Amino acid sequence: MNGYNPAAAPTHGRRRSLLSMITTNPWQPPLPDLYTQAADADLRARIRKAKAALGKKLLILGHHYQQDAIIEFADFTGDSYELSRQAAAQKDIEFVVFCGVHFMAESADILTDPSVHVILPDLGAGCSMADMANIDQAIECWDQLRRHCPGQRIIPITYVNSSAAIKAFVGEHGGAVCTSSNCRKILQWALSEDGANASTPTDSKNKILFLPDQHLGRNTAYAMGYPLDRMILWEPTQELGGNQPGQLQQAGLVLWKGHCSVHMLFRPEHVDQARAKYPSVKVIVHPECQWDVVQKADQAGSTSWIIKQIQAASPGSQWAIGTEVHLVNRLARQHPEQKIIVLSECQCLCTTMYRIDLPHLCWALENLAQNNVLNRISVDPPTRRWALVALQRMLALSAGPNPA
Ligand code: SF4
Repeated sequence: MNGYNPAAAPTHGRRRSLLSMITTNPWQPPLPDLYTQAADADLRARIRKAKAALGKKLLILGHHYQQDAIIEFADFTGDSYELSRQAAAQKDIEFVVFCGVHFMAESADILTDPSVHVILPDLGAGCSMADMANIDQAIECWDQLRRHCPGQRIIPITYVNSSAAIKAFVGEHGGAVCTSSNCRKILQWALSEDGANASTPTDSKNKILFLPDQHLGRNTAYAMGYPLDRMILWEPTQELGGNQPGQLQQAGLVLWKGHCSVHMLFRPEHVDQARAKYPSVKVIVHPECQWDVVQKADQAGSTSWIIKQIQAASPGSQWAIGTEVHLVNRLARQHPEQKIIVLSECQCLCTTMYRIDLPHLCWALENLAQNNVLNRISVDPPTRRWALVALQRMLALSAGPNPA
C-alpha cells in the first residue's frame, strides 16, 4: 500500500506519485473453481474447518453492513472503529480477517501490533467515499487554503471512512479523525481551539477542513448551531475548490465534496412516502444522508446509535431506517415485535462490502490455515505513525459519553 510520507509534506510543496491515489482498489485475482463452483454448504463447512484449525490465532471481524452469510462467522460485529478497537484489544492473535472494506482493514492494521497480519478477503472491497479524497488532492487543497487565508488557523478533520494517507495528513497537520458517533465532540474541539474560548461554534476564529464526507460534516455542524452560510463546498477537481478567494476567507467550515453512494440514495420524498404509508412511523437516518433528508427525519445518528434505539424501543414501534439494507433487514429479523423497514425501496446496499462473500472468505482462510497469507493490508511506518496520531487525538478527545 502506498501511504503518506512526511518527507513529501505539503509545506515542502512536493507531490506524491499517482500510485498513492490507488489505495482501495488494488488487483484482486480471480478465485479458482474450487471456490467459485462450490455450494454454500460446502464453503460453510470448509470455513468452519479452517477457522477451527487457526484457533485463537485468528479473529474474524464483520461490519454491520455485511451480509448474514459472513456475519455467521464473525467473532465480533460492529462499526468500523469498534471493530478496529476490538482487534487492538485482543491478546495473542496473529491474524485479523476483516470482513469490511479497505479503509477499515487499514485502521485495524494501524491500531494493532505490527506483528498482527490484517487480511481483506477481497481487495476489490473499497469504499467510494474514501476514494473521493486522495492525498494529492488534499495537499493541493491545504496549500490553496493556506495561501488564500493567511493568519487563519485551519484544522483538518477526517471521517474515519478515509484512507490511511488522509488520516496521516490530518495527524501531521494538527487535526483528528472522527466517527459518526463522536463527530460533534471533535468539531467542538476544533472550533474551541482558537485561543479565545469561543462560546458558540459561530464565534470561533478557526477554520475547519472536513474530509471526505460533506454530509456528515454539514449535518453535524448544523445540529450544533453552525449556519449553512458559513460552510462552503470544496470540489477537489476545481481551482480553489470552485470558490472565490473571499469565500475561502469567510468560510468557517470547508466541506470536502465527498459522499457515501449508499446513503445518498435516500431522498426527502422517501420520508414522505414512509409517513404516508405508516402514519406512526419514526424515521431514523444515518448522518451520511443528505441534509434535507436528515432535516425531515425524526432522528439521525450513527450505526451503533441506530441499533441501540431499536433495541430499546417498545413492541409495536414502527421504524423507517435510512441506512444500509443488510443492517436494516437484520434488525427487522431480530426484532419481529416491531415494524422495521428500509426508508427507501431502492437497493441501498454497499456493493463493495458485498464483494466479501463465502468463496472469498473460504479462500482467505484455507490459505491462511496453510501458512499462506493472502491479501494482507499493511500500512507503511510513516503513514502509520501520523495516522495513529490522528486516531489517538480522537480517542483522547472523545473520552466520555458521545452525543448521537
Ligand atoms: S456504506 Fe458508504 S461509506 Fe460505508 S463502506 Fe459502503 S460506500 Fe463506504
